[in-house]
Amino acid sequence: RAKQKGRNAWECFTSDINDEVSERMALRNDLQEAIEAENFELHYQPLLAAQGGQVVGFEALVRWKHPVKGYLSPGLFIPLAEDTGQIGPISEWVLRQACRDMCRLAAKGYGRYRVSVNLSPLQFRRANFLSNLQQALLETGLSPDCLELELTEGILMSDTAAAVETLHRLRDMGVEVSIDDFGTGFSSLSYLKQLPIGKIKIDRSFVRDVTVNRHDSAIVQGIISMAHHLGLLVVAEGIEEAAQRDFLAAHGCDVFQGFFFARPMPLEKLKAYLTQRGAVPGQGDSLSIPLD
Ligand code: C2E
Ligand code: MG
Ligand code: MG
Ligand code: MG
Repeated sequence: RAKQKGRNAWECFTSDINDEVSERMALRNDLQEAIEAENFELHYQPLLAAQGGQVVGFEALVRWKHPVKGYLSPGLFIPLAEDTGQIGPISEWVLRQACRDMCRLAAKGYGRYRVSVNLSPLQFRRANFLSNLQQALLETGLSPDCLELELTEGILMSDTAAAVETLHRLRDMGVEVSIDDFGTGFSSLSYLKQLPIGKIKIDRSFVRDVTVNRHDSAIVQGIISMAHHLGLLVVAEGIEEAAQRDFLAAHGCDVFQGFFFARPMPLEKLKAYLTQRGAVPGQGDSLSIPLD
């Protein structure tokens, strides 16, 4: 009987694995169809100046418009796409769409904004990464200073010499670079001083309890102080409460991002958001907003 029970448990276990494998394979096939049909959408989350509160840019966040499952968040398919190599075409689409959307916003008089695009490690390390990027800017007509690339610490740590070289090229092009999810990568701080970057984004995990956990508040204060001494701007992501904003403002954080201010939204909603904040569409590029 015990043997019987044991076999059942094993059968359950293997069938769970089989379910997982076939689920992944199904998702991979669906994703391939989505890539061909361009079934993705970018949602934009505003970034606001800590001083003055004006919108200084948006982060582009990809969603998969799944025919059955609805909008799927990137956490559910970006890791898979990185494993399968499908991240390449998805990234290409994201970059071009973000550039096109920003050009359209400016052309229609909503203002000239900088858009932040998340880069996957594979993309950054590709041999033709820089020429692809140059090509995307030329094709879409976006000015390089309206583009920011978000990299994670991992991307920069794996092959630092090559990464530093690429970052210098980006700086020469006029494209801004920020380090995303800062503080989660266990990386040595010494690498920061040799990187030609402009910004770091404090990870949401430190912001969440910043007002109640003395370790988090110490870490956040430390990051801000260090970044400023290195001449970097600091963005805090994941701000959900006024108390978090107040703490971060009091400690000199430069840019805010989080549900407290605005959730990521599709372009049409973003236009309404900007109009509500005083944009007057139809007035060309007159409503220029400082980028930093
Ligand atoms: P991330 O770059 O750190 O982006 C911020 C994530 O935090 C977004 O989740 C955003 O919706 C969420 N967020 C913003 N404010 C708040 C808040 O106040 N509270 C909470 N709880 N969450 C907040 P999302 O859109 O699900 O994206 C997750 C991750 O997926 C991103 O993290 C980024 O690493 C990745 N990702 C998104 N779009 C792309 C893309 O186009 N390419 C690549 N390679 N990765 C992407
Ligand atoms: Mg990001
Ligand atoms: Mg982030
Ligand atoms: Mg994060």
